[in-house]
Amino acid sequence: MSLKITNKQQVTELLDQYDYFIFDCDGVLWLGDHLLPHIPETLQMLKDKGKTVIFVTNNSTKSRNDYLHKFEKLGISGITKDEVFGSSYASAVYIDKILQLPKDKKVWVLGEAGIEQELHELGYKTVGGTDPKLVEDGVKFKPDHPLIDKLDPEVGAVLCGLTFNVNYLKLSITLQYLLQENKSLPFIATNIDSTFPVKGKLLIGAGSIIETVAFASGRQPDAICGKPNQAMMNAIKADNPGLQANPKKGLMVGDRLNTDMKFGRDGGLDTLLVLTGIETEENVLALAQDVAPTYYANKLGDLYEF
Ligand code: PLP
Ligand code: CA
Repeated sequence: MSLKITNKQQVTELLDQYDYFIFDCDGVLWLGDHLLPHIPETLQMLKDKGKTVIFVTNNSTKSRNDYLHKFEKLGISGITKDEVFGSSYASAVYIDKILQLPKDKKVWVLGEAGIEQELHELGYKTVGGTDPKLVEDGVKFKPDHPLIDKLDPEVGAVLCGLTFNVNYLKLSITLQYLLQENKSLPFIATNIDSTFPVKGKLLIGAGSIIETVAFASGRQPDAICGKPNQAMMNAIKADNPGLQANPKKGLMVGDRLNTDMKFGRDGGLDTLLVLTGIETEENVLALAQDVAPTYYANKLGDLYEF
C-alpha cells in the first residue's frame, strides 16, 4: 500500500530519508504553461536542505536550453542545465556515448528542433527534422521526390520523436532509411508515450508516430531513450555518482504510473506519485503492492505547505 502524505511529520521523515529528488515536469511542476501551487518554494526548500534536484521530461520537442527558459518564464529560478534531462538530450547522449556514432556521420531526424539542438551541441549534423522544404514538398507528395530516390550516404542513425509537422513525405523518407542496408541503420526512439495531455485533452504522442514507421519497416526501435527506459536513468546516474552508489537515497516524483513510477522503481529508487496530472487516487488504491508507489500526495506543493 502506498503511504499518502498528509501531514508535517511525514514530510519531515521523507525529507530526512532522501538526498536526490528526480522530478517529472509536466503534471508535477506545471500543467502546460500553468505553474502548480508552491513549486518554486518547494524546490527552494529542497535546495536549502542540500538536496540534489534533477528534472526529467519525455517531451522531445524541446532542448535543455528551452526547458531552462520555461523554468525562468514560470518563475522557477536558479535551475542549471546539468539538472535537466529531456528525452531529446538522452537520445543525443545515447547516440554519442553508447552507439559511438562517428562525428562525420549525420542523423536523420523525424522530430522537432529540441532533438536537432541537442545533436548539434554534441557535434552531429542532422538531416530531416525541421527542414521547411520537407513541409513544403509534403503538401503535394510525389513518390519520385529526390530525398526518397537518393538517400544521404552519410546518415548513420535514425532518431524519431514527436513531430508536429508530420507528413507522408517525412514518414516515407524515414522508412527508406530504416530499410536501407538490410535494416542495419540504428533506429532510436526519444520516447514512446502514446499520448500526452494538453488542457484536459489527449494529443498524439511520439510513440504513435514512431509506431507508424516501425510497422512499415517491420522493425522495433533499437533503443528508447525516455522514461521508463533505463537508458535515461543511466545517463542521470553517470552524472550523479552519489545516486549510483545508493539509489534508495533517491526519490522519483511523477504523475504517471507507467512511465514515471516504473522509471523510478526499475532504477531502484523509491517513488512519489502526485495527483496533479494523469492519475487519480482510485488508480493508486487499486494497484498491487509490487507496482504501488512508495508514497502519493495530492500535489508536490504539499511538501512545502505541511
Ligand atoms: N511529450 C510532449 C510533446 C509533451 O508536450 C509532454 C508534456 O508536455 C510530454 C511528452 C510528457 O512530458 P513529461 O515527461 O514532462 O510529463
Ligand atoms: Ca508528466
